[in-house]
Amino acid sequence: MKTKFTRSILALTIVMLANISCSAMLFPDGKDTPAPVNIIYLIGDGMGYGQISSLIMEHAVNGASYRASEINRIKYMGIATTYSADSKVTDSAAGGTALATGEKTNNGTVGINAAGDTLSSVMIYARNIGKSTGIVTNTPILDATPAAFYAHVEKRSQWDEIAVQMTQCGFDILMGEGLEHFNARKDGKDLTQVFKDKGYVFCDTWEQASAVQKADKMVALTDIGEVYPHAVSKAIELLEKKNNPKGFFLMIEEARIDGWGHENDAKGMVAEMEIMDQVMKVILDYADSHPGTLIVITADHETGGTSIGYDGMPAFKTKGHSGTVVPVFAYGPGQELFMGLMDNVDIPKKLFRLLGK
Ligand SMILES: [Zn+2]
Repeated sequence: MKTKFTRSILALTIVMLANISCSAMLFPDGKDTPAPVNIIYLIGDGMGYGQISSLIMEHAVNGASYRASEINRIKYMGIATTYSADSKVTDSAAGGTALATGEKTNNGTVGINAAGDTLSSVMIYARNIGKSTGIVTNTPILDATPAAFYAHVEKRSQWDEIAVQMTQCGFDILMGEGLEHFNARKDGKDLTQVFKDKGYVFCDTWEQASAVQKADKMVALTDIGEVYPHAVSKAIELLEKKNNPKGFFLMIEEARIDGWGHENDAKGMVAEMEIMDQVMKVILDYADSHPGTLIVITADHETGGTSIGYDGMPAFKTKGHSGTVVPVFAYGPGQELFMGLMDNVDIPKKLFRLLGK
């Protein structure tokens, strides 16, 4: 007959073993945090602290009425360095590759490291473990940041090749611009038909895409920039309706912040950050109503060397990218992993870890 003491020791051992196996899988540092079911990874292209400041300041000082920005809802924040393998100042190809795969590469290269090895993204990993997957961007979906999640090319300008690789990625929901690289190609191939043959609902207008109520797989190649926060809502709605018990991984890129920085256009940047704020509201509201959802928001780099001038508006130092650090915001299960100073490659490494890799 077991004594009370033996039973206690047995119970304690079981609890300890359970903790070890759990933490060894997800949290080697021993912290117990439930793994997220859904991950939403929002990348603001060119969104540094000047851009974030412009949003906060616009709401706090210049707005018709004071209203907190959506960032006010987020408590867990970090800082990320963005340098690439060959420069202190990254471009979107190397920055996107770092954020997608956890490895640095040379500027201009997508999904291949400096040694020439093909890299695999955290979204490919999510797909392989059974999660639903999606990309939404308000730029051509072949551009460097989204491409880093599914393509491997020496030069980011190889859009016709990136389009071919996109037809092979197996992601469920793909929304962006760049239709002509699928249906009006130099090689005469009709890649829209390739998607249809693979079972995708194919949309080349927003009217079509917004009317889709349910789709196992959908590609929408149209002027997403005109309807951007609605497109983000639609992507989440379609992923949600797939009812996948393993959840989804959605990458959202706000691509146009970068352009206003390159143009040194203060009003354009303020307006774009307001759109970013609307996108943040869509995803934060979703996370609040779906508590297993982790949101990570960051940038591939800063653009414009942006600060806030005495007039409260963005002021610029360069027409190019800068090497300043960028913010990392996290909201939901696993959020505490994204605090403190980190390198851009650490962000997907943490996501891989939360996915159990
Ligand atoms: Zn840029």
